[in-house]
Amino acid sequence: MIPAAFDYHRAESVEDAVSVLSEHGDDAKILAGGHSLLPLMRLRLAYPALLVDVGRLEEMRGVRQDGDELVIGAATTHHDVVRDGLVRRHCGVLADVTAMVGDPQVRHRGTMGGALAHGDAAGDLPTVALALDATMVAQGPDGRRGIPAAEFFVDYLETALAPDEVLVEVRWPTLGAAGEGGQGWGYAYEKFSRVAQAWAIVGSLALVRRDNGSVAEARVGLTHMGATPLRARATEQALSGAPASADALAAASEQAADGTSPPADLSAQPDYRQHLARVLTGRALARAAGM
Ligand SMILES: Cc1cc2nc3c(=O)[nH]c(=O)nc-3n(C[C@H](O)[C@H](O)[C@H](O)COP(=O)(O)OP(=O)(O)OC[C@H]3O[C@@H](n4cnc5c(N)ncnc54)[C@H](O)[C@@H]3O)c2cc1C
Repeated sequence: MIPAAFDYHRAESVEDAVSVLSEHGDDAKILAGGHSLLPLMRLRLAYPALLVDVGRLEEMRGVRQDGDELVIGAATTHHDVVRDGLVRRHCGVLADVTAMVGDPQVRHRGTMGGALAHGDAAGDLPTVALALDATMVAQGPDGRRGIPAAEFFVDYLETALAPDEVLVEVRWPTLGAAGEGGQGWGYAYEKFSRVAQAWAIVGSLALVRRDNGSVAEARVGLTHMGATPLRARATEQALSGAPASADALAAASEQAADGTSPPADLSAQPDYRQHLARVLTGRALARAAGM
């Protein structure tokens, strides 16, 4: 449980972090809250020669509104996201799901950017990013680029970030207030864990926009049902234009696990995860549609 020896550099700016990363290539890793990286280092599953600490960079913290998007600095802690008035008012689903990440200690140290850049299949925030079509903004030696969530999560613990890129901010489309349907959207996240305040064995996030008794649009994001977060496309398609009735939602949720190959681990076998995906999606859809 003792990490291999490493050097430490506290970045003075994003530019400084990028320049140090470019110099050291694969030998260097960014450190934010350390809640995912340090456990891996202690198990010697990761052994970077250099840690570049971006956790205290003010330019990577905070929330601002830009038109119909919220822009959240990657080093903003989960705690600050949950408490932020703009997030609660304009992207309540993000506040609700972030409040379910780990426990208060984890939420005080862990950062939004770290949770996304870590690319853990069991992470809750990658699912929100995928369902909302959020955009990750990365800064590298050649400047900034936006990466849509659908292209960001590549494989288990692997993202589209290059070794010399820093995730600086995330652009989230605004949807509405926490705990309510805002701008026509209702939402709900159902997370099934072995104990309270733990990782999801499976999670299902439903977003439903109703129009005159029909489902105008439904989005379903799944957590821990594969190497990356997934969209339950068959369920989404079945609901497009369907009546917003309990029967239609329940029938569509039966397709939630279609095409998935979930992992087996100590907590669950693949068929059990597929069962959970159907059940949790049914519950999340019903709540999101206000039933
Ligand atoms: C006990 C416990 C319970 C937890 N429960 C949950 C849970 O229920 N749900 C959940 O989703 N998560 C959970 N987590 C994880 C938590 O959300 C972490 O905070 C998060 O995964 C990593 O954030 P961090 O800031 O600590 O990142 P770090 O550990 O510092 O970094 C994680 C990885 O991301 C990279 N990285 C970090 N920031 C950047 C950046 N700006 N640009 C590029 N790369 C970057 C690092 O190099 C590293 O590879 C839990 C963690 C613990 C310890």
